[in-house]
Amino acid sequence: ANIADLPATAAARVPGEPALADTTSGTSFTWSELDAAINGQARALRGHGVGAGDRVLLRLPTSADFAVSLFAVARAGAIAVPVSPLAPEPEVRNVVEHSGARFTISREPGDVPPQAGPGEPVEAVGDGEDIAVLSYTSGTTGPSRGVMLSHRALLANLEQIGAVPGTPRAGDRVFLAIPLFHVYGLGPGLLHSVAVGARVVLAERFDVVKALAVCAEHQVTVIGGVPAMYAEFAERDTEELRAGLASVRLLTSGAAPLHPKVLAAIRDKTGLSVFEGYGLTETAPVLTSTLVTGYAKPGSVGRPLPGVELRLVESDGLAEPVPLDPDDLDDAFVEEDAGAGLVSVRGANLFSGYWPDGAHGPDSEGWYRTGDVGYLDVDGDLHLVDRANDLIIVNGFNVFPHEVEEAIAALPGVAEVAVVGAIDERSGESVRAVVVPAAGAALSEQQVVDHCAERLAGYKVPRTVEFAESLPHSPIGKLRRVRLRA
Ligand code: ATP
Repeated sequence: ANIADLPATAAARVPGEPALADTTSGTSFTWSELDAAINGQARALRGHGVGAGDRVLLRLPTSADFAVSLFAVARAGAIAVPVSPLAPEPEVRNVVEHSGARFTISREPGDVPPQAGPGEPVEAVGDGEDIAVLSYTSGTTGPSRGVMLSHRALLANLEQIGAVPGTPRAGDRVFLAIPLFHVYGLGPGLLHSVAVGARVVLAERFDVVKALAVCAEHQVTVIGGVPAMYAEFAERDTEELRAGLASVRLLTSGAAPLHPKVLAAIRDKTGLSVFEGYGLTETAPVLTSTLVTGYAKPGSVGRPLPGVELRLVESDGLAEPVPLDPDDLDDAFVEEDAGAGLVSVRGANLFSGYWPDGAHGPDSEGWYRTGDVGYLDVDGDLHLVDRANDLIIVNGFNVFPHEVEEAIAALPGVAEVAVVGAIDERSGESVRAVVVPAAGAALSEQQVVDHCAERLAGYKVPRTVEFAESLPHSPIGKLRRVRLRA
């Protein structure tokens, strides 16, 4: 099977039903119109000389153009390489050089335009182990790498998601204002909606007031979002939020940790839970979700989807800390760290290694180490602690930045905070906090340190605190710790 079969199947089943509304351009498509547009674009691509296995850069915002082009590239048997339309030129050039893409679909003159006229049916080329999407990670922890996602992997994840009760179905209207060039918007967002025949409602950018208006106008039932979006929803008046989300039955969040405060605020105001999922580009992407248990537990990313195997394995970086001073050990840390391990996963949704040679893919038994550290709570629900690479080791003690960040975030006047390791001659590494003060707040380094000292073991208390106006984020809203460290 080819991912481009998904819109064709919907077009055969419910040709005249609304398929997609692009609320930025104002265009909308029925399933048969969408399928015809994909055929037209696939023919145009072939006319340009695009053939099986060619890499085609997709430099488009969240739009109907993106959807049509993604499926057209797949139908032509080529490999879509989605990049942010806002990415700086050197970044795009790197991706073009690394992937060897010879074609770019974009709205820029000189590139292949994103839509041709509607066309006659085109037989889809490529399936199974053929690569459908080459997705470059945003490089929040290291250099950006090209993740090879086969038709098999992407389709397997759609099935795994579909097997969970409560996930989008035919009849749902799914609002997406997240980047489609990121695998979270692309897979569980766009592809899954098309696979089940749900109507897709797209917005190029997330603006909270507009988003609420669009959700009301299009009678949206599902929102696929990210924590930063829900944080903005949580700040709206109860009345306004309720009116905007009146038809909504499901809110989902992924890509980065959702703050329990946001979950609670939205639940208080609307009665709706935000269901959190966890995944990676390398796993096409969803691994776990709180929808699997049906309860949105604060701080947990739920349990594995059916068909995803998950285990926690030991790792060198997570060796038992050697206590230098037993008084320094705080109970919470010991409790949480007991049983914490590297999240290792197996399933038909796994990637085919990194471009171009498939290096560092799943091992010979099909397992892949995610690089995330997690633990299972007494119910068997997964909690992510941090990425192993982000671990700070102070005098042999493990410090997970997230714990320190949560402590500092609780201090009034803190808008945002990031914690990273700094090289320290005496302790190997030391904890460094970068704090963005809320508008009008006056915070001192000493205040932050004192606040932490009351709540955390000594070795976790930041050695240095810096103040900044903002923190670096990836387009999907992730904190870029590498940039901060640099
Ligand atoms: P790179 O891998 O190059 O650093 P990236 O972070 O953008 O770039 P992705 O594949 O987008 O790569 O991100 C996957 C990571 O996102 C996971 O390994 C995990 O650390 C984090 N993540 C995803 N969902 C959640 C979640 N619900 N809670 C916490 N972290 C999450």
